[in-house]
Amino acid sequence: MKLKITGHTKVVGIYGDPVGHSVSPAMHNAAFEALGLGLVYVPFRVVAEPAGVLETAVAAIKALSMLGMNITIPHKERVIRCLDEVDEHAREVGAVNTVLNRNGVLVGCNTDGSGYMLSLREETGLTPKGKRVLVIGAGGAARAVLYSILASGSAEVFVANRTTDKAETLASEFGSRFKKAAIKAIELDREIINEHSANIDLLVNTTSLGMTGKGELDISLENLPERAVVSDIVYCPLETGLLKKARVRGLKTHNGLSMLVRQGAITFELWTGRKAPIEVMKKAALEALGGTFL
Ligand code: NAP
Repeated sequence: MKLKITGHTKVVGIYGDPVGHSVSPAMHNAAFEALGLGLVYVPFRVVAEPAGVLETAVAAIKALSMLGMNITIPHKERVIRCLDEVDEHAREVGAVNTVLNRNGVLVGCNTDGSGYMLSLREETGLTPKGKRVLVIGAGGAARAVLYSILASGSAEVFVANRTTDKAETLASEFGSRFKKAAIKAIELDREIINEHSANIDLLVNTTSLGMTGKGELDISLENLPERAVVSDIVYCPLETGLLKKARVRGLKTHNGLSMLVRQGAITFELWTGRKAPIEVMKKAALEALGGTFL
């Protein structure tokens, strides 16, 4: 069935900057078409400066009776204070990637962590329970990924970030929430990462480095054990410089596409109350990436 805009069409979309790289419009619009829903997904570039732009954009969700909104870089944490309610999981994570407009009440949720865990298990067979994990990044996506890794019972976690203060805040905040795991912030420095790599089961990049046009993460994977999985939540390109390095070293890799599809499917179900057509979404996302970035 073809997507038709009528007087009844409802809008959902994504707020972020940049948003031009996002394949979420292709993925969700394909799903709306497949199920014949009167919905359309639109990307909106919402800049971080000047102050007040995000607040105005969030108010527009209500004013224009949109069904909801995805939130991406750099707004996942800041958007919380613009919403009427935030569900328990997103509040604990400290970041929102999905907004639901429930009859004029804007509710924040977070589907990134669940999407990440589902995709990691499906693609690599790894579950972080009892494992040692190195998380690079301390932004909105890092919060969700780290929270889910800790909730699944990982034994020891290192968090490295360019702005070390943010890694320390995250380690101390989540350390008091998950008392059984040892969580430590470390510097995002080649030598220090190398020193902490020897016993790592999962290394995951949650920064935007590796994304087309953003530069690469400058770390060595030489010290990782052979069993280690290297995961990158960046999906554009599908194989980042980090994943290429891991593949060349013979390590198992996990790219950001299946997380994108899984988190998108959970969001789709929250917005529509319908079961997400996963295969349709994955095909559309792959086609969108293939056309532009492969
Ligand atoms: P964010 O909240 O803005 O956080 C960005 C992170 O990247 C921070 O840790 C930041 O470090 C780091 N960073 C940015 N530029 C850097 C640089 N030049 N050198 C070192 N570190 C740098 O963004 P986000 O929402 O967490 O998203 C991060 C990435 O994850 C994006 O590429 C996004 O597309 C991707 N993502 C993918 C999925 C998926 O489904 N596959 C889901 C969510 C996000 P500082 O704290 O020092 O600034």
